[in-house]
Amino acid sequence: MEAKIDMGKTKYIFVTGGVLSGVGKGITAASIGAVLQAKGKSLSIQKCDPYLNVDAGLLNPAEHGECFVTKDGAETDLDLGHYERFLDIEVTQQSATLSGRLLKELIDDERAGKFEGKTVQLVPHLTRAIQRKIELASEGSDVHIVELGGTVGDYEGLSFVEAFREFGRRVGRENALFVHVVYVPYIGTSKEFKSKPAQNALSDLRGFGIVPDIIIVRTDSPAPESIKRKIAMFGGVPDDAVLMMPNVDSVFKIPERIAESTLLPILNHFVGDEVAPDMRRWQGLVSMQESDKSEVVRIGLVAKYLDNEDTYLSVLEALKSAAWHEGVVLETTWINAETATDEDFATVDGLLVPGGFGVRGVEGKVAAARYALEHDVPYLGICLGLQTLVIAAARRGGLGHANSDEFEKSGQNVVYIMEDQVGKESTGGTLRLGDYPAQLVPDSLAARLYDGTTIVERHRHRYEVNQAFLEQIEKGGIVVSGTSPDGRLVEFVEAPGKRYIIATQAHPEFRSRPMRPHPLFGGLIHAARPRSPHLPTPDNRPAAN
Ligand code: GLN
Repeated sequence: MEAKIDMGKTKYIFVTGGVLSGVGKGITAASIGAVLQAKGKSLSIQKCDPYLNVDAGLLNPAEHGECFVTKDGAETDLDLGHYERFLDIEVTQQSATLSGRLLKELIDDERAGKFEGKTVQLVPHLTRAIQRKIELASEGSDVHIVELGGTVGDYEGLSFVEAFREFGRRVGRENALFVHVVYVPYIGTSKEFKSKPAQNALSDLRGFGIVPDIIIVRTDSPAPESIKRKIAMFGGVPDDAVLMMPNVDSVFKIPERIAESTLLPILNHFVGDEVAPDMRRWQGLVSMQESDKSEVVRIGLVAKYLDNEDTYLSVLEALKSAAWHEGVVLETTWINAETATDEDFATVDGLLVPGGFGVRGVEGKVAAARYALEHDVPYLGICLGLQTLVIAAARRGGLGHANSDEFEKSGQNVVYIMEDQVGKESTGGTLRLGDYPAQLVPDSLAARLYDGTTIVERHRHRYEVNQAFLEQIEKGGIVVSGTSPDGRLVEFVEAPGKRYIIATQAHPEFRSRPMRPHPLFGGLIHAARPRSPHLPTPDNRPAAN
């Protein structure tokens, strides 16, 4: 039998799911973390994904949601965005643990002869590798939360479930808390909630040797008490360890729900103190969302994956929090980049062109930028949205065939491939990724929004602005307002004299927080307010990031 390990003072919370995935495990994990953080605990958090990809970089965002980029350049699952927003932390590569990466490392070690002739197996080698990743990711924090993607019982996730069980046993029952999130459907024809799939999911979990401490029951609408009692009984937990969680209109209400529930004494007991969580910032955020607002700001999201919120999750979250802080109602209109016309652009108060890859819909995004320049409509361009603004300006400035290497190899390529990226077009992990600094032009709109001239943002791109065409780009109405510190890469452009036309090669949405909206988004919402068409000035500037 393996000796019990001493992991310092760290306590571990394992969050797994049953019945269905996609019912809010990530938000549950982050919300439990938020409550413990409000008790004064230091938190770290990690997502384990059982699929065989090495990272989320090459996954189709329409199927899998946005690719969230960490400051150290990991291309990860969107749940890491929830973690950062709920806990106001910046996670790293260590918070993303994927089977593909683990297996690749194991196989590389096997080829390098590191196993000295032993048979390499899922148990114990993969399960040990998973536990090692948990140890590394949790170092130094009071509480470490580990979420498992998918549902317990999925073939590809079994090694993780076994690793969690073993880990729990090694650190001791008092240092590991197992939370299982299940879904209870409502059957419209018979007008009743059905707990059977959840009961089966709980018995599956027990079959793998894990007895839950807490069960979260997701439902579409409030379910009767009898469902809670049934689930407590089949889950083998007291009634108080079950929290019913019907859908809510804002995910930011969930930390408060947990803090007010019968789960609080269980969490208190687990971390060994009775300190009441200070939930004021969450209450403040919710009341900001719910306050009476009459002014509507309509932002057009010019995109190719329509009505797919997960694909643009961090962008939408950044817009929402900017609107709450600005005290306006946000209306987001999806503008189909493949069919967009000036009539579509005319229906909104501001335009946002988010990041993207591939030629599909790009002309609609260039058209949005041209429209913004011609009609002085607020425009925020993110990554590809900077490139489309530069293309639109260059075409206005006389380069009728201005384009990007990504879309048209033989054009006048005002956006071109970075030298070190040639030949890597469809490979994983080779983009310019993660935090890079930028130097902003003093007194530019960018510098005024950031309230400074040296900034850092996260990146994920392969192409860059070709500064050989600056003259034509400027003639089209755009100036460079920020570059890499060596001046080689264009990081920000803007339209002097316009209300608010600005774009960045970076992804500012990843650093926006519900309580601290990013200034570029705050600036867009502010400028797009129909009744206050001013540029942000030092006096009305939104909160700095
Ligand atoms: N496709 C563009 C590039 O690789 C933009 C990337 C993005 O928007 N994230 O440079």
